[in-house]
Amino acid sequence: MENMIEFRSVFKSYPNGTEAVSDFSLTAQPNSTTVLVGSSGCGKTTLLRMVNRMVEPTSGSILIDGKDVKDSDPVALRRSIGYVIQSGGLFPHLTVGDNVSTVLSRTECREAATELLERVGLDPALASRYPSLLSGGQQQRVGVARALATDPQILLMDEPFSAVDPIVRRELQDELLQLQNELGKTILFVTHDIAE
Ligand code: ADP
Repeated sequence: MENMIEFRSVFKSYPNGTEAVSDFSLTAQPNSTTVLVGSSGCGKTTLLRMVNRMVEPTSGSILIDGKDVKDSDPVALRRSIGYVIQSGGLFPHLTVGDNVSTVLSRTECREAATELLERVGLDPALASRYPSLLSGGQQQRVGVARALATDPQILLMDEPFSAVDPIVRRELQDELLQLQNELGKTILFVTHDIAE
């Protein structure tokens, strides 16, 4: 499996007339990390969300391994692509374990949640806690664990580490690079921070 993402001359205008993306083309190489860097409002999130069809382009196309995403079922597409947002985007009313396993079938759940939490450097004992009782960095780790739950080959990460303090942020960045070395995902990563 290759997992190459291509944007071909993509445009996006929102119904209110905002031109968020204009003639954008890029190939994100398989099994590597591609970072979209730019100031706030320049269209990064819009681009990312077009990959899993949360946003549809006005014109142009987005291809995964040469196949236009518009020909894929949106739900199947989203299940096959991990998505991480700021603060983890966790469900506050679900425990950590349930957050991680929400995308899995019942039988897969317990074991998988334990393994996933360990993979992102968390104590599996945290599985029974609610997100509000975790630190920002821990919440973000849970968000990454959840994105990895269906073992997707592609990970979309939207400012994933922006809400945590600089030291934890550095740790999370290093861990992501290590995970990437082990797992070889195709990562599309959005940030407004040049240093990151
Ligand atoms: P970034 O991720 O780089 O901060 P976005 O992709 O979120 O940028 O937004 C690009 C532009 O499109 C901004 O001007 C933003 O206000 C606008 N925008 C984003 N989503 C919508 C929407 N649903 N409706 C109208 N305008 C939007």
